[in-house]
Amino acid sequence: MHNTSNLREEILRLKREKNAVILAHYYTLPEVQQVADFLGDSLALSIEAQRTEADIILFAGVHFMGETAKILSPGKKVLIPDLNAGCSLADSCKPADFKKFIDEHPGHTVISYVNTSAGIKALTDIVCTSSNAVRVLESVPREQPVIFGPDRNLGHYIRQVTGRDNMLIWDGACHVHEEFSLEKILELKESHPGAKILVHPECKKPIRLVADYIGSTAGILNFSRTDPSDTYIVATESGILHQMRLAMPQKTFIAAPPLDSTCGCNDCAFMKLISLKKVYLTLKYEVPEIEVEEELRKKAERSIRRMLELSK
Ligand code: SF4
Repeated sequence: MHNTSNLREEILRLKREKNAVILAHYYTLPEVQQVADFLGDSLALSIEAQRTEADIILFAGVHFMGETAKILSPGKKVLIPDLNAGCSLADSCKPADFKKFIDEHPGHTVISYVNTSAGIKALTDIVCTSSNAVRVLESVPREQPVIFGPDRNLGHYIRQVTGRDNMLIWDGACHVHEEFSLEKILELKESHPGAKILVHPECKKPIRLVADYIGSTAGILNFSRTDPSDTYIVATESGILHQMRLAMPQKTFIAAPPLDSTCGCNDCAFMKLISLKKVYLTLKYEVPEIEVEEELRKKAERSIRRMLELSK
């Protein structure tokens, strides 16, 4: 029987023995974040996945993230601790439906959020993350019409920021970021008048309208590092609060409440499937492994590499 500290030691030993690296997303459990070699948001993790010289990448995150790592590093073994760790946003956009949408609107440049399957990336011209979505959109000539998918909230946000009206937006969403309660956020603001409201662009417009800062998970973390305030209400997945509290113990971070306070909806249930025990077992037995069929991988790789070029 392993306790947390034994598990941590065993994971560190296996990493050394197997020349493995653990890449973890900010939304994973704190104990999983603690064993990561590299912690980041989707953009930073994609960059690290192509850079690493390890033989094995264990991706502590959801399926599309492991798949992105495999697309960029086909020669490496990519493991994910739980194949059931999916993503409601990625599931809201199926390749057959997206292809039909693209076929119905010929002549558009297709930009897709990284939170998609390899099948969607293969239909895409340029992938983006919430960190670089505006930059990716602005890389497309203004007169060129664009299809953006699958997150409708991020799509509407970047359309508003860029003032671009020739952009069709797929109607998908993330169940975590759609669930924040404006009323409860404003009640919190009443009781903490000096608090700043930090919002992820996957949130709905009414939540974005009360934000002091809108940005990706990494953007929110960086903003709170340099901003002089001492209290923040954070409207994104609650896992990021662990890093914020570690980095700034003198500040107060309050998780923005969801509509239903009993549901734990500001936790991504998929990310929380990645337990320390599963990380250990995955590293030990080297299963489950992510596989991507080669023809599909090559098509998907083009759209991710175009994003990475723009991120340099
Ligand atoms: S928080 Fe939302 S977008 Fe992110 S992995 Fe979970 S379901 Fe997907």
